[in-house]
Amino acid sequence: MDFDRVARKTILSIAGNSAVTRFAKTYGMRLGARRFVAGDTLDEAVKAVQDLNRRHISATLDLLGESVYSEEAARAAAASVMAILDGIQASQVDSNVSVKLTQMGLDVSYDLCLDNLRAILGKAREYGNFVRIDMEDSAHVDVTLKLYRQLREEFENTGPVFQSYLYRTEQDMSDLGDLARNIRFVKGAYSEPASVAYPSKADVDANYNRLVRLHLEAGRYAAVATHDDAIIGSTLEYVKSGAIPNDQFEFQMLYGIRAQRQQELADQGYKVRIYVPFGLEWYPYFTRRLAERPANLFFVMKNFFAR
Ligand SMILES: Cc1cc2nc3c(=O)[nH]c(=O)nc-3n(C[C@H](O)[C@H](O)[C@H](O)COP(=O)(O)OP(=O)(O)OC[C@H]3O[C@@H](n4cnc5c(N)ncnc54)[C@H](O)[C@@H]3O)c2cc1C
Repeated sequence: MDFDRVARKTILSIAGNSAVTRFAKTYGMRLGARRFVAGDTLDEAVKAVQDLNRRHISATLDLLGESVYSEEAARAAAASVMAILDGIQASQVDSNVSVKLTQMGLDVSYDLCLDNLRAILGKAREYGNFVRIDMEDSAHVDVTLKLYRQLREEFENTGPVFQSYLYRTEQDMSDLGDLARNIRFVKGAYSEPASVAYPSKADVDANYNRLVRLHLEAGRYAAVATHDDAIIGSTLEYVKSGAIPNDQFEFQMLYGIRAQRQQELADQGYKVRIYVPFGLEWYPYFTRRLAERPANLFFVMKNFFAR
């Protein structure tokens, strides 16, 4: 097990500790969460998107929150996503939305989640907008793909996320075929066992490049979501050598991470979209960002001592 995996596991387990959770929720925004989260409210998030748009960068808005365990909470979360779509339409910002199925009630019932997603996709279609369905931990992959397939047969304005750390991903992509014309590729953010996911970064990266190439070669649209310069570089090399047009792919990064690189790519004429999370439920999102890059901890410590 390499250093990154140990650090990720350690941070995720410390983050689950209740005393740490209480402390972080009280002081987290001041400690640095604000760097990765656009604000508590939709208004603040729209302002962040307007700022990106002014710099020729588009966005995908994400209402923070993880699994919900009641129908009421799932319906409330779906209503909030529809309010985000209204907000995007009203302000005319260049943004779509990303949703997590467990937040829309997947762990309560499949039909509840389907119902919520139908309402969201229906509203997005009315506005000519698009809904990205985030991929969560490996225990949810089968059900996410099943629900995605069912929705995609009714709605064109949606696309899935595929994680290159999972052994199964290439097969999943090929099973979906033309139903997944617009894919976001990521390495994967959850702590997964070696029985389902490549343990080494080299294998995760090699699989990432392979999946993106297969997809582009098939003439489909790729959202290359990474902060990794090696992957960004090899994607650029490939698109240039394979004469893939600039409108067949985009780069995606997270709000607050590598802002300078985001701007450079946009200035070079590439499409860039930033994942802009907002809302009160920022804690699990923030700890995942710390886990995947322990150097971010120094940023948090610096803010703590600099107060
Ligand atoms: C738009 C977007 C959407 C996502 N959606 C999902 C999803 O639906 N499901 C999911 O499981 N995961 C998702 N992720 C998270 C993803 O799976 C990874 O956990 C995350 O992107 C980190 O991996 P990486 O590709 O950036 O490369 P890493 O291997 O983590 O980092 C590679 C290199 O990138 C550079 N780098 C990384 N972070 C920084 C930083 N803060 N500052 C400077 N350099 C840095 C460093 O050079 C580092 O060595 C998403 C990520 C993005 C960008």
